[in-house]
Formats: sequence, structure tokens, C-alpha cells
Amino acid sequence: MVQLIPTPTDMEKFGAHLAHACHHRTILHLCGDLGVGKTTLVRGFLRALGHTGIVKSPTYTLVEPYQMGDTMIYHFDFYRLGDPEELEYMGIRDYLDGNIIALIEWPEKGGEFTPPPDVAIQLTHHADARLLELKAYSERGQTIRAVS
Ligand code: ADP
Ligand code: MG
Repeated sequence: MVQLIPTPTDMEKFGAHLAHACHHRTILHLCGDLGVGKTTLVRGFLRALGHTGIVKSPTYTLVEPYQMGDTMIYHFDFYRLGDPEELEYMGIRDYLDGNIIALIEWPEKGGEFTPPPDVAIQLTHHADARLLELKAYSERGQTIRAVS
């Protein structure tokens, strides 16, 4: 599925739509260059679920947690990861237990320690707009793709 996303508002809307399609435990990879709109998508995702505060980029903290009802949402950003093994030291596996949603920017920087995705989104610059390609990697991901 490839879609043109003309504005930041449209990117937030896509994030919101995706949030409503994610039930149960879901791992989402967000790939693409700096400034392509990954955090903007996450902002729309979190706001759609009722988050009213700011959405900080977890570039320096690696992860920003959000409790939304009975679901924990973890926004990861692996851009600054020096060594994929740091994910082992931070106890990444403990974050992934139970009813969680993980949105991961720069998943490729975590190598084999990055949890495998249900859905991977690739964003690319397209003049002032963005191209968004969504791929499913599990049954759960296929369900999400079907409504995206
Ligand atoms: P990333 O997390 O991928 O580094 P951000 O979401 O932080 O990117 O920043 C994206 C920047 O690009 C923002 O300043 C946003 O306003 C701008 N932008 C322009 N057009 C778009 C678009 N169509 N979708 C998303 N962001 C866009
Ligand atoms: Mg970002």
C-alpha cells in the first residue's frame, strides 16, 4: 500500500487512523530519513488515543512511555544508538510483554535486538509531500493493512 501524504496534518491523520486499527499487541517500524515525518505520525497516533500533552522525540532517551487506558504505548527512537547491544542492556524485552504497542523510529539501528514488526512503514520525501509505504509482516499486520 503506497499513499501520498501532502501535509503534516495529513501525516497526523494517518497516524490517528493507524491507532484506531491497532488492537492487541502491535509492533510498528517507522523508517525513513531525518525530517521525513516519523515523529509527526506518532503524534497523530497518540493524540487519537487521547494523549493531550506534547510528544517529545525520544532521540536522547531511546524510549518515551505513554499509558493509555490499559495499554502501554512505547515510542522508541534508535537513531542515537551506538551499539545494538545497548537494547539488551536497557532490557528491551521487558518493554514488550503484555498489552503493548511499540512505535519504533530507526529500527534498523537496533539490528537483531529490534523486535520484528507486525507493520513496517517507509516514508520518503516527495517534493514537499511524503510517500508512505506500509507493509505487513504478520497476520495482525495484514489486518491493520486491510483497513489503512
Ligand atoms: P522525523 O521524526 O522523521 O525525523 P519529524 O516528524 O520530526 O520527522 O519532522 C517532519 C518535519 O517535516 C516537520 O517539521 C513537518 O512539519 C515537516 N513536514 C512537511 N510536510 C510533511 C508531511 N507531508 N508529512 C509529515 N511531515 C511533513
Ligand atoms: Mg523523529
